[in-house]
Amino acid sequence: MSINIAVDGPAGAGKSTISRGAAKELGFIYVDTGALYRAVGLNALRLGIDTKDAAKVGAALAGTEVELRFIDGEQRVFLNGEDVSEAIRAPEASMAASNVSAIPSVRSFLFELQRDIAKNNNCIMDGRDIGTVVLPGAEIKIFLTASPEERALRRYRELVAKDVPAEYEQVLEEMKQRDFNDSNRAIAPLKPAPDAVLVDTTGYALDEAIALVIKLIKERLD
Ligand code: C5P
Repeated sequence: MSINIAVDGPAGAGKSTISRGAAKELGFIYVDTGALYRAVGLNALRLGIDTKDAAKVGAALAGTEVELRFIDGEQRVFLNGEDVSEAIRAPEASMAASNVSAIPSVRSFLFELQRDIAKNNNCIMDGRDIGTVVLPGAEIKIFLTASPEERALRRYRELVAKDVPAEYEQVLEEMKQRDFNDSNRAIAPLKPAPDAVLVDTTGYALDEAIALVIKLIKERLD
């Protein structure tokens, strides 16, 4: 039996940095499920499809292959055989991901893939609905939050560090829009599982937050 840890929360709460750091420490794989929704969103953008058009996005799934591979412990995401791990980080892919993620056929298309990885590996999986829908039986569930301003600032700094042109105000606006979309959609909305531990990372440096989460996981696994 594999051990599964679910980490959910809004964009910029530190999910990926914290989950990656904790997975490394524990010798687990780290699975970033947002990358899957981003790949489906990118696919729709490339096909020139309106990412909110459920019928068209759904129809395009038939000819689409999304795959996660773990290379030296690092996740890479493949879209129809092409490594799109960098391309999916563009800001337009964020909003596209948020739009396609509200489409039920997209969620079911990606569901088994996530479940299979968790069944076969000790993993920390992060997303929006991991503790509530994908892995309701996860051994540990963590819900990470932070204020929208702090989350936008983190995302803005990440983009600048990658030389992606960005403006703080715009990043904040988009983040609020995505929060709203993710929390208010009819299917698998972003919300803590009843048995999730809530961790607010506002005011924490990320290495402090990683240490906090590792401590919490180790206490619970013992
Ligand atoms: O985590 P990340 O920001 O990369 O996720 C991109 C988008 O994918 C989110 O805004 C959300 O709409 C969607 N998503 C989701 N369920 C997940 C992971 C991500 O709906 N498990």
